Amino acid sequence: MSSPTPKFPTQIKIGHHRYTVRRGAEVLKEERLRGRIRFDARVMEIEKESDAETAASVLHEVVHGLFNFMQRTKECDDEELIHATATILQQIIKENPVLIAWVQAQPLR
Ligand SMILES: [Zn+2]
Repeated sequence: MSSPTPKFPTQIKIGHHRYTVRRGAEVLKEERLRGRIRFDARVMEIEKESDAETAASVLHEVVHGLFNFMQRTKECDDEELIHATATILQQIIKENPVLIAWVQAQPLR
């Protein structure tokens, strides 16, 4: 028996910012982007790619979103830092299902 395929997240909350996530936005192809985050509109647009690439792109935009939420403009504009943070975050989430499930079961402080 296999578990059902998880749904693509169409809403992501970062702090009290609620983002709508759109997949396969055509404008991204024209601009050769994998993803984009619009802080003012609270929208993430993600290109349709392989599952691993799409997950990496979503997490990349999430990391932009969290630095934006913390008003860390310098970090938010540092694509190298964003990329490295998103890559390690993806690995932590992927390879630590017990940690993720346990944290989810705890209340926020
Ligand atoms: Zn970026």
